[in-house]
Amino acid sequence: MNIVIIGNGILANLGAMYFSKHLPPSVHITIVGPDDREGLPVVGESIIEITTHVLETKLGLGQYLMKNHLPKYALTYYFKMDPDDPTDRTYAVHCNERGPDDLRKLDGWEGPMDNPPSWLINREVFDRDIREMVSHTDGIERIDGHVRDVQICQDQQHTLFIEKISGEQIQMDADWVIDVSGRKQVLPRKLNNIIRPEGQRDCFWFRVAGFDRELLKKINALGPMPPGPGEPYHYDRYYSTHHFMGRGNWIWMIPMKGEDERDLMSIGFVSHPDHFDGNVSTMESFLEQVDKTHPVVSDLVRSGEIVDTNVLKRYHYVVNPMYSAERWAIIGDAAYAPDPLFSNGLAFGTIQWEQVGAMIRKDMEGTWMHPMSRVWLRLFWGRYWQHRQPFQTGMPPCMIRY
Ligand SMILES: Cc1cc2nc3c(=O)[nH]c(=O)nc-3n(C[C@H](O)[C@H](O)[C@H](O)COP(=O)(O)OP(=O)(O)OC[C@H]3O[C@@H](n4cnc5c(N)ncnc54)[C@H](O)[C@@H]3O)c2cc1C
Repeated sequence: MNIVIIGNGILANLGAMYFSKHLPPSVHITIVGPDDREGLPVVGESIIEITTHVLETKLGLGQYLMKNHLPKYALTYYFKMDPDDPTDRTYAVHCNERGPDDLRKLDGWEGPMDNPPSWLINREVFDRDIREMVSHTDGIERIDGHVRDVQICQDQQHTLFIEKISGEQIQMDADWVIDVSGRKQVLPRKLNNIIRPEGQRDCFWFRVAGFDRELLKKINALGPMPPGPGEPYHYDRYYSTHHFMGRGNWIWMIPMKGEDERDLMSIGFVSHPDHFDGNVSTMESFLEQVDKTHPVVSDLVRSGEIVDTNVLKRYHYVVNPMYSAERWAIIGDAAYAPDPLFSNGLAFGTIQWEQVGAMIRKDMEGTWMHPMSRVWLRLFWGRYWQHRQPFQTGMPPCMIRY
């Protein structure tokens, strides 16, 4: 069985790693994608328990995560009691009170809970390390280049047309093609199956280093969450994904382990163009906007050094369908760009790799059935499928075309 994965980003490499551990050794995997990111930004530093479960229990990355990244105890949401008064720092703070400590045991972990519920990932480090680990895995071939076209054939092998970085043009046949080419969306553009829902989002984000983390405590936090000092499961709220909620917008703050021993943080401003009049797309406009509502955030930003900035406008899309009985699949940013409010981008990707892995196993056993791709899609989109709620929620519509 020949599987070609289009793309060389985080989900392409995690998928190749997953297949090498969970599919029979007769499977041959080829990753086709450029070694260089060619200027594409990397974002998505907060992972949730679903992703953590796959990374630790299915890929064996628990010790790696513990050594190289920060624990994440909660998704923390800050609702300001008087959003119009910049001098008032009173917030209703909502977060986990404890983690799911009965799910798994992480050897060597010594923290306030039996294990860290999840992780705050330095994506530059993580993406580089995972690529490196995959490069040393037997049975995975790499081609440094771009897929320029794919010919999908119903009952035979598919053909990929590849341009290597050296300029050489080659063709390759594959039983399965899995598109993980991110926003370049090689297969969706070919299949013309991209949907741009209503309820669009804009996002400006940046990384800041060497800031004063104590400034994050300068709020009047209402409520006993998280458990106070001395109470069981007490943790430092710094180690969470912070969400400062506004009108038609919200801000994420994700602490990370910097490579130069300085604190590093990813901060992003997500807005809903139908409900927010401003235009936050530079550091100046970010600080001007945030000073009005959340000076606790802008004070912290000013105390550090900006590492880089990025902007995406009207970035929300989904593809339909994402899987086919014709033996292709679309995963990750190639398939959807959701609002990151619940940090679920990589979680969707890891669920998809498990689903596609199960389809390939069935295919190899000769018990592959056409309806399976439908069932997985229905399970993937959950209640959005069931209730057929298109678009208003910012989530995909039910997957009804095949
Ligand atoms: C603003 C924002 C915030 C986010 N926050 C979070 C978060 O907190 N938590 C979370 O889990 N997720 C988050 N996400 C989602 C997360 O960023 C993505 O799920 C993840 O980075 C997608 O990885 P990927 O491998 O699909 O894409 P990429 O990393 O972009 O990889 C695509 C790869 O394809 C290659 N490629 C492109 N064209 C071709 C071609 N023609 N041939 C071959 N290869 C090609 C590229 O070079 C690249 O290597 C966020 C997303 C956004 C936009």
